Amino acid sequence: MAILECKNIKKTYKTKNIITEALKGVNFSVEKGEFISIMGESGAGKTTLLNIIATLDRATSGVLSLNGKDISTLKSGEIARFRRKELGFVFQDFNLLDQFGNRDNIYLPLVLSEENLSLMEDRLNEIKDRLGISELLDKYPYEISGGQKQRIAIARAIITKPSLLLADEPTGALDSTSSEMILNLFRQVNEDGQTVLVVTHSLRAASYAKRVLFIKDGIVFHEIYRGENEAQG
Ligand code: ADP
Ligand code: ADP
Repeated sequence: MAILECKNIKKTYKTKNIITEALKGVNFSVEKGEFISIMGESGAGKTTLLNIIATLDRATSGVLSLNGKDISTLKSGEIARFRRKELGFVFQDFNLLDQFGNRDNIYLPLVLSEENLSLMEDRLNEIKDRLGISELLDKYPYEISGGQKQRIAIARAIITKPSLLLADEPTGALDSTSSEMILNLFRQVNEDGQTVLVVTHSLRAASYAKRVLFIKDGIVFHEIYRGENEAQG
């Protein structure tokens, strides 16, 4: 089943006399269980596309379906609820709240969706060892490294079991060793069944995905699949 479907997505920005066609008809779909990366240079349209997929912005035309649902049929209140339930987000700059401990940062999306405490604990127990965060939970974000922060952020993003995990340049603030660990973690999370979409300008980061879409001037112009037996290191 397609988790995400983009059909002829176009986005035009109008500012005063300047019209920018940021997306000129993007078509692709992501099946359940895929690990896909969208890569392109600065200005290619990645942020615009990601914001549309994240339901934070609307396309000028075209159809976006998430989990079989045409998003344009939802009212804005419904979209917020849908986003909270169906999508997980990982950012370049982690977006953790320093005034809360790491455990509470992870629980936050569950608190917002009014889940009960014991369910939160169960979910965290399921994932904490796999993510290597057991020793970090009683600390605060300002007490841990960038790579560790991103582990906490990934835990926060997947604790709701979203249909789609979206990551925007998730290694952009990390050194190469931490980047590699985080990219391997995305791979592991994907192998555990999570559908993952990573947007990046780094070919190195994109190469961890099983499938890479190349975007340029608002169009997907190329697509590659990584061989099953190819070693990564
Ligand atoms: P990327 O994330 O790949 O760098 P963007 O989606 O940010 O690309 O930008 C694609 C194009 O759309 C660029 O030409 C950019 O200048 C333009 N653009 C992006 N956001 C806006 C905006 N809010 N208003 C006007 N033009 C924009
Ligand atoms: P950028 O990669 O553009 O420098 P970020 O990585 O901070 O910036 O955010 C990427 C995109 O995600 C932004 O364009 C923003 O609109 C969106 N975003 C920011 N905060 C949230 C949030 N809490 N939930 C969902 N989307 C967000």
